Amino acid sequence: METIYCQGCGIRIQTTAKNQPGYTPASSMTKENILCQRCFRLKHYNEIQDVAITDDDFLKMVSSIRDTSGLVVHVVDIFDVAGSLIKALPRIVGNKSILLVGNKVDLLPKSVNTRKLLQWLRAQAKQMGVNVADACLISSTKGHGISELAETMEQFRNGDNVYIVGTTNVGKSTFINRLIKESTGYRDVITTSYFPGTTLGFIEIPLDNHSALIDTPGIVNKEQMAHYISAKDLKLITPNKEIKPRVYQLNDGQTLFFGGLARLDFIKGDKQSFVCYFSNQVSIHRTKLEKADELFENHLGELLTPPSMESIDQIPPMISDTFRIDAGKYDIVFPGLGWVSILGDGATVTAHRPKGVAVSIRQSFN
Ligand code: GDP
Repeated sequence: METIYCQGCGIRIQTTAKNQPGYTPASSMTKENILCQRCFRLKHYNEIQDVAITDDDFLKMVSSIRDTSGLVVHVVDIFDVAGSLIKALPRIVGNKSILLVGNKVDLLPKSVNTRKLLQWLRAQAKQMGVNVADACLISSTKGHGISELAETMEQFRNGDNVYIVGTTNVGKSTFINRLIKESTGYRDVITTSYFPGTTLGFIEIPLDNHSALIDTPGIVNKEQMAHYISAKDLKLITPNKEIKPRVYQLNDGQTLFFGGLARLDFIKGDKQSFVCYFSNQVSIHRTKLEKADELFENHLGELLTPPSMESIDQIPPMISDTFRIDAGKYDIVFPGLGWVSILGDGATVTAHRPKGVAVSIRQSFN
């Protein structure tokens, strides 16, 4: 039988194993644009199916580009750089130029200075051991920066293939769709979705007779909040418009809850502002540190939401780390959920989040 690939995610189509990737009922094989059942459901019913592929397989698939030439475009989520920047990228892709693309720039407050943000993004990448040839900021949903990026890609690829690489959920599919739409007028060629891990396989989009744009599978980063919560909650914590920072004046001995998914205790330090950047749909609740445990116990899923009442059982138990922060402006980052900016000056804070989810501290970009 001729090998057929899904028009949505690029996986090889098969008609025998119902629970394996690429399954399509034999009766659908006569259709013109064949989709695997997973993409079909996603497209027509907005319904997510579980992915039957391991992280190792994802890595193996992406590693297969190591020995080819071309430009690597690494898409990261500007709302979650710590969670979406792939530290192992230089090792995975070998000796290729890397163009770093910060997507979802529309989510940041308008007051953010883009020049400073770009400098900051490059510095973050360098700090994590990823040296990049250039960096750009885009919004794939709004179209900002796409044509400039297309030009930069042309400049760096020297007529070679372009590999688009990223962790799941950074907006890689939306970005490629946008690129295709701007250059050809086609719409929604690749499946986009809220759930991590929905892009499987490689998709090749010809750029000219000799080279192509190649979409690689999203690498799963298990430290992102997205992997521990329900699809409904994920929708709530994923911002879909400009984030309005919420400012709290805190004394030490006070705590902030971000829904029931994270908590920041102000253990010691002078009274100061905690500027919170979270999806507008995540409720923020201030309380006294001594009452915080009790509040969490009694009000998770109602006052402290998301998670919703139905999904609280699936959230791993909370763990915490304590940080002493130097002088200067720092962000305490809960990957995929948001961050809090504070002026360190020797303040001590404790960050709580579900076990498995990372937390990090970075220098602020504004
Ligand atoms: P992929 O897993 O990297 O292919 O990510 P998708 O393209 O499926 O996008 C993941 C989620 O991010 C979807 O809900 C998209 O609508 C959203 N998204 C993608 N690009 C942008 C963007 O530029 N701005 C915003 N606000 N959301 C975006």
